[in-house]
Amino acid sequence: MIFGFGKKNQQQDDFDEEVELVLFQGTFSGVVVDLSEHARLVEAGMLRAKELVTEALERRAELLRLEPKGDRVVAQMMVDGIGHAGARLSAKEGLAVSQCLKLVAGIDPKERKKPQRGGIKAEFADRKYLLMVETKPLEGGVERINVHLIDIKEAKYSAQELGFNETVGKKIREMASERGGIILAAGPPGSGTTTTAFAIVRGIDSYLYAVFSLVDVGHRDLKNVSKFDRRENESLDDALQRLIRQEGDVAYIDPITSPEIAKIALNKQESLTLISEMTARDAASAIENFSKMTGDPAATAQAIKGVISQKLIRRLCYKCKQPYRPNPKLVQKVGLPETVQTLYRPYKPEEGEDVRICKVCGGVGYLGRIAMLEMIEMTDGIRELVAAGKSAAEIKAQARKENMLTFKDDGMRLVAEGITSLDELQRVFKA
Ligand SMILES: [Zn+2]
Repeated sequence: MIFGFGKKNQQQDDFDEEVELVLFQGTFSGVVVDLSEHARLVEAGMLRAKELVTEALERRAELLRLEPKGDRVVAQMMVDGIGHAGARLSAKEGLAVSQCLKLVAGIDPKERKKPQRGGIKAEFADRKYLLMVETKPLEGGVERINVHLIDIKEAKYSAQELGFNETVGKKIREMASERGGIILAAGPPGSGTTTTAFAIVRGIDSYLYAVFSLVDVGHRDLKNVSKFDRRENESLDDALQRLIRQEGDVAYIDPITSPEIAKIALNKQESLTLISEMTARDAASAIENFSKMTGDPAATAQAIKGVISQKLIRRLCYKCKQPYRPNPKLVQKVGLPETVQTLYRPYKPEEGEDVRICKVCGGVGYLGRIAMLEMIEMTDGIRELVAAGKSAAEIKAQARKENMLTFKDDGMRLVAEGITSLDELQRVFKA
């Protein structure tokens, strides 16, 4: 980043522009790396590596990817789930940059045949970051490097902030107030399902209930929740049994990814309230999948208390979003309240107007993301359908009949409030 401070250096003018680069402050694992032992590599690639990471941090990217393409290495950034092209490096420079990132992440810079994972503690513009570096070997002896850029403060913050709205929060407390049962967070991959699961865990009153996490929560902050240490090679089943003996009330467990885990959850949910996450299109599909995994629709209907699903949608940039008066027919057609007279869309210059690039969002028009929520509670009506092995579509129809919160309602609310645009809502639903 170029800081034109405008303050002239007393001696000369050469230093009135200063380039601020990210600081690498050691490996996340604590492994100490002596850079002087790799002086040649550091000289060849470290500055460029810092420049690329700095650019990604400035653009608020969540992911920086270095991928070999032909005789080049191409950088790509993901900002709010959308890819943006970055720098193109020569193969030699790309290799040096990749090796430098691996080195400071505490993993073997030379190893290119095995996938590796490491982390860098970093600081930029007074904020602390965790850069998770993942390598993936590709054909031809090259590899792809993914750097996940995690704002440590924001990671804590968003989990706290996603404390749900009052209605959803109250429902979760109700669900957790009776012993037993399963509460699921569900969503497509990359939709922030883990954040939803965390918010559910946080929503439980840990003064009233003994809440344990069997999952390694990494850098996330799960206040008031005790970590339940798994013994070496201890199965989920055995760990839950041990937790029941220790009089735990609520357990946050591994994602439900296999029939085996689903069956264990089903067997243990009578003595413990279980919170978990599951990959599924939406809340109704999660119930259907769970039922299929366990092969026991009747028990599934009794066990599941509720499913909360979230989809992320980009927020319009607060600085440059443009109000417009929508066509009343369109308002009616998409199902917005008739009282809505103003909607917002990303800034687009009028014909002949000079193009202004918004400094806040860099001309993208969107800034950050927000969650749309959907929730299905196990009411008598839903339970009957689930027990009868009915499809996700039928479960969803019933949920709608009972006025449960749907993605569409929640998304429309965000459009009506000017937080996002109709186009963005359509994009998310098409994806
Ligand atoms: Zn903007």
